[in-house]
Amino acid sequence: MQINRIIHFAGRMPEQGKYRVAAYCRVSTDLESQQSSMEIQEQVYREMIRANPDWELAGIYADEGASGTSAKKRTEFTRMIADAEAGKIDYVITKSISRFARNTLECLQYVRHLKDIGTQLYFEKENLDTGAAFSEMLLTILAAFAQEESRSISENVKWGIRKRFEAGEERWSTCYGFTKGADGGYALVPDEAAVVKTIFSLYERGVTVNEIKKHLEKEEVPSPSGKKEWSKSIIQRMLANEKYMGDVQLQKKYTVDHLSHRQLKNHGEVAGNYLKNHHIPIVSRKTFERVAKIRDMRYQGGGKDQGEGSSLQYPFDEMLTCPYCGAILRRRKINVQSADGGWCCNHCGDFVIRALIIENALAFAYNAIDMEIVATLPDSPQKELLLQYKQSMPKTQTAEYYWMEDLVDHIELGKHTYSPSDLRNKPELQSDNVVTVCWKCGMKTVTDTRIVRDADMPWHIADLYKGYLKRQENKAGVAV
Ligand SMILES: [Zn+2]
Repeated sequence: MQINRIIHFAGRMPEQGKYRVAAYCRVSTDLESQQSSMEIQEQVYREMIRANPDWELAGIYADEGASGTSAKKRTEFTRMIADAEAGKIDYVITKSISRFARNTLECLQYVRHLKDIGTQLYFEKENLDTGAAFSEMLLTILAAFAQEESRSISENVKWGIRKRFEAGEERWSTCYGFTKGADGGYALVPDEAAVVKTIFSLYERGVTVNEIKKHLEKEEVPSPSGKKEWSKSIIQRMLANEKYMGDVQLQKKYTVDHLSHRQLKNHGEVAGNYLKNHHIPIVSRKTFERVAKIRDMRYQGGGKDQGEGSSLQYPFDEMLTCPYCGAILRRRKINVQSADGGWCCNHCGDFVIRALIIENALAFAYNAIDMEIVATLPDSPQKELLLQYKQSMPKTQTAEYYWMEDLVDHIELGKHTYSPSDLRNKPELQSDNVVTVCWKCGMKTVTDTRIVRDADMPWHIADLYKGYLKRQENKAGVAV
């Protein structure tokens, strides 16, 4: 058991020569016999702290955490924070990130707050010590994962996968995460399914394929073929595999071999040779579709090797419309001078704006939010969320998916596109170089994008884009 394991903290030893160590545990009520489980946890921590000569017990805090309860109801957690604030605790040991906090934001907020007042945290499952020079990115990734309430890639998961490899158990098909069920259909392999969930969850939050690969290797999760190394192409193929949302694209060889007619009648909505809701999914349809959109955008944004762009592209999709014709803008790599990705109108072809301009405007708008105005808004969950973000992250350098998704309703673009001669004739249009961010709490922030240099004038890019569209049209015409 854990009792025999001596943990060495990375944080500075206090002057009195011992760390005052507290333990925080939370047992969710959906577990069987949670009461005894709670007692066992408390006992384990008591023994663990007693057994370490460098530690002394500062307290055991234990909540019975029904899922979805508010932070206010976690009375023991609140008591622990109060004791830490009173300077009684040097270190808090806790089982895992998912036991400590219920979402990324909350986790980061408490970690930062505790660090500020000189209390460090040690997460057992993740082997993460906030006293160490650790990367906050790692914590963000791990906490994002915990938020999905997927299981952490624990020892158990790794162990289960390895054990099957050692036993030489053959997988039923080549699809990682599934096995052949008793009825001959798809059945989940829980530990592999947890890995699949992690991959989708991280990608959905803006983590690149390369970072996911490194994360899995660091966690020592064997690849689908049992190797230590994961290839980027395997991860990319997994992200595109419709089986993970429960569908099947029928291959010729499948129709005879694996699919019983009964299943086909009962569960499949046959559309050509594509079966929807054919088997139990690992990720939701919404997640799968969002991941597909992000992949599409990264690809079109012109990432260096398809999806590995040096800068992340964020899913503004459906948030941006053409100020001329109202069509939804699409992200395109436009081969124009130094232009990186741009948001383009395919409908009228008159509007193009560089992605970077919107991203910068959004970050600027976030930083410029006037908290006095926010305070006057009617109370709502959206307002509360905005206040929480601003408290934990007063300023940001870049627009990031995780907060954007939570806070931004949509973005309105000014026309941006008048040529200098137009402006001379219609001076009222000069104020049109704006990006208006409409926040979910009901507030609007208007940012002037100050596009002044000629090469940056979107009307200039738009002309070139129109030429590009025309060439594409001609090509298609020739092909037909
Ligand atoms: Zn348009």
